[in-house]
Amino acid sequence: MRPSRINYMNTHILPRFEYYEPKSLEEALELLDKLGPDAKVLAGGTDLLVKMKAGFVRPKYIVNIKKVPGLRYIRVEDGYLKIGALTTWNDLEESEVLKYFPALADAVDQMGSLQVRVMGTIGGNLCNASPAADSAPPLLVYDAEVVLASVKGVRVVRLEDFFTGPGKTVCSFNELLTEIRVPFREGSSAFIKIARTSMDLAIASVAVRARFEGSRIEDVAVALGSVAPKPIRARRVEEMLRGLDIGSDRILDALNVVVEEISPITDIRSTAWYRREVSKVLVYDALMKACERSRGGVG
Ligand SMILES: Cc1cc2nc3c(=O)[nH]c(=O)nc-3n(C[C@H](O)[C@H](O)[C@H](O)COP(=O)(O)OP(=O)(O)OC[C@H]3O[C@@H](n4cnc5c(N)ncnc54)[C@H](O)[C@@H]3O)c2cc1C
Repeated sequence: MRPSRINYMNTHILPRFEYYEPKSLEEALELLDKLGPDAKVLAGGTDLLVKMKAGFVRPKYIVNIKKVPGLRYIRVEDGYLKIGALTTWNDLEESEVLKYFPALADAVDQMGSLQVRVMGTIGGNLCNASPAADSAPPLLVYDAEVVLASVKGVRVVRLEDFFTGPGKTVCSFNELLTEIRVPFREGSSAFIKIARTSMDLAIASVAVRARFEGSRIEDVAVALGSVAPKPIRARRVEEMLRGLDIGSDRILDALNVVVEEISPITDIRSTAWYRREVSKVLVYDALMKACERSRGGVG
């Protein structure tokens, strides 16, 4: 249960838990199945340990998956970019193949501090299900899927169906996210995030993937973070943008619909009003960035 008041003097103390370190995927899945909902998966720990120290979560069991082999890779296979769940932000930054996914590369560029980039994983970022998760908007515009494994087998879920609310996903207590699959798509893309500091979670973020014919938008996907209970695709905005010239006044009508698709809150990072206003600007800026990239021949 979330404490009504956090004692920050004690935030360095972890509550007690039983610790498991499976050495294979099978062992990890069996453990999660056996231990039940009182167990929590630990990957990089950059979200989980912070929450545990603040007393937001008190798992009885911790299953550290960092030593599970075969979950840390970036490869191209069957027309997909496949990313293992334990791939760190640093691994992604060093990957050559990310040049074909510029919106994801932008997000990786702006992600946290060196310490967080070394420890934090892309699987953890998605499973933590923060509305502000930086990997989510780019992966949403690329129509990514996630692979969830359990003792019963494997299922593939569209990322758009994965998040169900703040901190909530369709990943069950006995499932592990093992892989992220990103299909190669035509066009160019961009991600823009604004935050209070370079190391902070987003006040608002936007990813755009678009195919342009000159300055005409032939096809477009738009996703936003930090402005709704979960990262979202703005489907109505996409419909309105399709076929428009990027310089036309009608773009403004589409941008005004952005505020109808989001439901931002006021919190320590920003007001709902500011998030609504800035989201329109970010969608436009991300479109322009993607358009410029398409002219420069960058995917
Ligand atoms: C100083 C700081 C700065 C940060 N800056 C940013 C930022 O700029 N942008 C951003 O998006 N985030 C940021 N974060 C948040 C965090 O670093 C990222 O979300 C990170 O990618 C989480 O990955 P992890 O491996 O550490 O997850 P963990 O903390 O290990 O796990 C997070 C959650 O996911 C679950 N989980 C992890 N892996 C799996 C799996 N494979 N299958 C099922 N469940 C799993 C865990 O049980 C837990 O509930 C920041 C955090 C800190 C402390």
